[in-house]
Amino acid sequence: MPHRLQRTISRPVEVTGIGFLTGADIRLRFIPAKPGHGIAFLRTDRLHAPPVPALVEYTIPRQRRTTIQRCGVTIEMIEHVMAALAGLAVDNCLVELNGPEPPGCDGSSRLFAERLLDARIVEQDQPRKWLDLARPIRVSGDDGDQSVSGEPGRDDALTISYSLDYGPASAIKPQFARVRIDPETFLNELAWARTFVLEHEAHALRAQGYGRRTTARDLLIFGETGVIDNVLRSDDECARHKILDCLGDLALIGCDLRGSFEACRSGHSLNAEFVRRIKLVHAESVWPLAASKAA
Ligand SMILES: [Zn+2]
Repeated sequence: MPHRLQRTISRPVEVTGIGFLTGADIRLRFIPAKPGHGIAFLRTDRLHAPPVPALVEYTIPRQRRTTIQRCGVTIEMIEHVMAALAGLAVDNCLVELNGPEPPGCDGSSRLFAERLLDARIVEQDQPRKWLDLARPIRVSGDDGDQSVSGEPGRDDALTISYSLDYGPASAIKPQFARVRIDPETFLNELAWARTFVLEHEAHALRAQGYGRRTTARDLLIFGETGVIDNVLRSDDECARHKILDCLGDLALIGCDLRGSFEACRSGHSLNAEFVRRIKLVHAESVWPLAASKAA
């Protein structure tokens, strides 16, 4: 029995909006792709730009976002698009963009997910590859209080949990969430969870020229006493958004991943390091197909 068949969408769909970083008006198009294609991003505003595969090998260091680059062509902040594709198990898709980043939308994956559902997700005639975590893996940040770990799961699922504690003085309260990922739980429990920044981080980003057209209504900005000019969609929206980020980053492995994963205060660069570690540890494994799994 194959784990499942690969999936794509039945027709192109688009999402338009403002890029959070550049403030540019962006048109993103999800385009169906053949089995084995995977997810790739294509900049249509750059002459002769090659598609950039959404794989960890193409990531470049960035603060607070996941960015891929190939032959000098860069796509910033792909994580919320990646989470929508991974959460809905869309394996083959070309993501066209007429700018350097996806539309920010409301800082969540909801609009991307809605458009992918509008496009109707269809099965293809090839099995999807997957990787079962064979043994525990852990990476931690330099200061020791950030970590991502994974261990073989008790079932065939991908489960991600996230705990967040920025200390008693933080406006963001300590919180924990755990989600067993499938398209239904993704839509119900994760897709709507919005990105968040602290007020001083937002000021620092503006000082660097980022986010000029983005306001506290467009994402969650936390001041000293709580969220500014906005209302939380759940008490643990921040932890849920972090799970959404982890899901998008884990998808950079390029196949389904099964196991139980736990992250503490991790961000995109540590998530990417974790994915690289998984690939290293499993370098000797043939990524299981139906035949090898049955053996
Ligand atoms: Zn995010």
